[in-house]
Amino acid sequence: MTAGRKDTLSKRDYYEVLGVSREATPDEIKKAYRKLAFKYHPDRNQDSPEAGEKFKEAAEAYEVLSDSERRAQYDRFGHAGAQQAGFGQGGFQGGFSDPRDLFSNLFGDMFGDIFGGGGGRGRTAQRGPAKGNSLRVRLQLTLEEAAQGVQRTLEIRRHELCSSCHGSRSASGQGPETCSTCGGMGEVARSQGFFSIRTPCPRCHGEGVIITDPCHTCGGTGLEAKKVEISVDVPAGVDTGHRLRVPGEGDAAPGGGQRGDLFCDIEILPHPHFQRRGDDLFATLELSFPEVALGATREVPGLEGRVEVKIPAGTQSGQVLSLKGQGMPRLRGGRRGNLYIEIKVVTPKKLTSEQKELLEKLAQSMGIGDLKAKRSGFFWGRK
Ligand SMILES: [Zn+2]
Ligand SMILES: [Zn+2]
Repeated sequence: MTAGRKDTLSKRDYYEVLGVSREATPDEIKKAYRKLAFKYHPDRNQDSPEAGEKFKEAAEAYEVLSDSERRAQYDRFGHAGAQQAGFGQGGFQGGFSDPRDLFSNLFGDMFGDIFGGGGGRGRTAQRGPAKGNSLRVRLQLTLEEAAQGVQRTLEIRRHELCSSCHGSRSASGQGPETCSTCGGMGEVARSQGFFSIRTPCPRCHGEGVIITDPCHTCGGTGLEAKKVEISVDVPAGVDTGHRLRVPGEGDAAPGGGQRGDLFCDIEILPHPHFQRRGDDLFATLELSFPEVALGATREVPGLEGRVEVKIPAGTQSGQVLSLKGQGMPRLRGGRRGNLYIEIKVVTPKKLTSEQKELLEKLAQSMGIGDLKAKRSGFFWGRK
């Protein structure tokens, strides 16, 4: 551990911040930063502003010490030297990357920063290449597919690296040049009396780079729209409103950036027989009077093969039978939902003369009497 420099009042020595010696190798510096960055990452320390400060401090120290030129400047001139390095115009103010971007470029988005909507962060004041756009598609499934899980091949249009320049954006293949006006930061600082105001660089429009000979095929974007086929594994148990993430299947990013992700918005199509509520299924089963009166065992088509339904004798029209575990599978495993079957007793519309005779006999046996005679004394059923 070295003695702290005192050249800028509130700033700690960068070597001290990372806890490494002045002779530390680049690898040691990276390891030390990695440890601190994970410890103080804002996503893990949401209630601690102090951790946020530490995270920034470590990122700043790493940014300088990991760059041999800036490190040499810092060793000679202290903090002022490190800040000035790499600036074209009046840069004496801050001059560091967004610590979160620095972190993601080095270690990836470890903490699930996924739903950024439309993908990458802005390119302002950033050295690493931006991530490609994330894409969204609607994925319609039948209830059977949702019950069993399915592999689907999707045809989507997305941006691939340009086939002519391979994403370098320039015709010569040299790639973009660092903008000399802003030194690649995408921002310039203007002094306004006591203050210094940062504005997007007028030359590169905040990109930090300039394409001097744009590729003819892609016009300098480095990207080309293409139709591609992507295979997606849909797990059993998905439902309308779920969003499935397929990492790295979004747009490509020029300049070596990470691809965006593909998000599939699940939509389950209506089923002719089953209604779904969460993991439970609901259906109606039509039965005849003898079946409900005497009881019966019936096989009905379920989502996965046939399901046996036992109808107890004396089942009422409107009664609901529940079949445990015959509903939808749970997305993350565990017990399946239930199948609820509402019984509907249907009245025959046509009868043979033999059936009529039998029914009249039944009526007599039940004491209903002459069906054609007027009778009073009936009561409404209860709702
Ligand atoms: Zn191109
Ligand atoms: Zn610029």
